[in-house]
Amino acid sequence: MLRGLRRLHRFEKRILEIAKKNEKLVKIHQYGFSRKTSNGFRFPIYALSIGKPAALKKNPVGIVAGVHGLETIGVRILLDFLYHCLDNPDFFPELHKGKLGLLAMPMVNPGGVALRRRSNPAGVDLMRNSGVEAVRSMPFFGGHRASKHLPYFRGQGLEPESRTLYRFVFESFFHVKNSLVPVVDVHSGFGSVDHVWWPYAGTKDPCRDHQLFEAMGRFFKIQAGHSLLNFGPQSESYTTHGDLWDLFYDHYYKLHEREKAWKSKFLPLTLEVGTWSDLKESPGKIFDRKNIFNPDGERKRETIQRYRKFLRDLFRVALTKEKDWQVQ
Ligand SMILES: [Zn+2]
Repeated sequence: MLRGLRRLHRFEKRILEIAKKNEKLVKIHQYGFSRKTSNGFRFPIYALSIGKPAALKKNPVGIVAGVHGLETIGVRILLDFLYHCLDNPDFFPELHKGKLGLLAMPMVNPGGVALRRRSNPAGVDLMRNSGVEAVRSMPFFGGHRASKHLPYFRGQGLEPESRTLYRFVFESFFHVKNSLVPVVDVHSGFGSVDHVWWPYAGTKDPCRDHQLFEAMGRFFKIQAGHSLLNFGPQSESYTTHGDLWDLFYDHYYKLHEREKAWKSKFLPLTLEVGTWSDLKESPGKIFDRKNIFNPDGERKRETIQRYRKFLRDLFRVALTKEKDWQVQ
């Protein structure tokens, strides 16, 4: 518990520092609380808004991390990206000049970070928690309701962390007019390659923006130089119950289905950082459940910084129009 708490406080300190150091451009909001731990602790969930007010309203983009408490590499990638953007105005001038605004929820599951586990303090895997039923999910790993003492537990009803993320996404992105709205959720996992997934996780049916996502994937991979990333719908890798982005994505289109002139698109993506290559170099890590999902040392710094350009390029999608992505 102690080591996890120390880590949580280190992350919180950095989140507060980002806001304090950049008072003009950054606002911090406390968006909600985690579930209580068994000894009565609950932890605040923060959001940061970065950019000029008009840009945050008109052209927002989003990044979240720390949905799974063990995948702290995602939190580090997110914080590194924010520091880098704020310290180097030339790296992402659009952010400083008011062309777009960035909304971040750096640690969705602070209780999981403190307790050093994947789930929230109630034992619920938040990425199995949305209530969406998969068409055919992987047994066990795809989510179950057998016991909160087993991993991948779906829970009953939305957990406070899931509701907080839902409200953040709804308030930040669902009413944006005439814009593409990319939102990325950073995870890490057991594999040798990095993935960028779009909906759905729960079915192999293509989502309504499948072609747009495919065109973006091709662009990033071939033209923008992100050739090591693998793009595809999440269900191509595996199918799970209860993915939160499946719920948000469907809700977004349900909300706007009657508005014929609705031009915006909500584009949720999951960046899954593969950490398998580190395992091969230090096979002992396989016995340390915390470290399976997190590369170590020098490599960690390299891993964290590797995604800066991709995230920036992805967020620049907000400055394009849908027709820019149509194949000739
Ligand atoms: Zn994850």
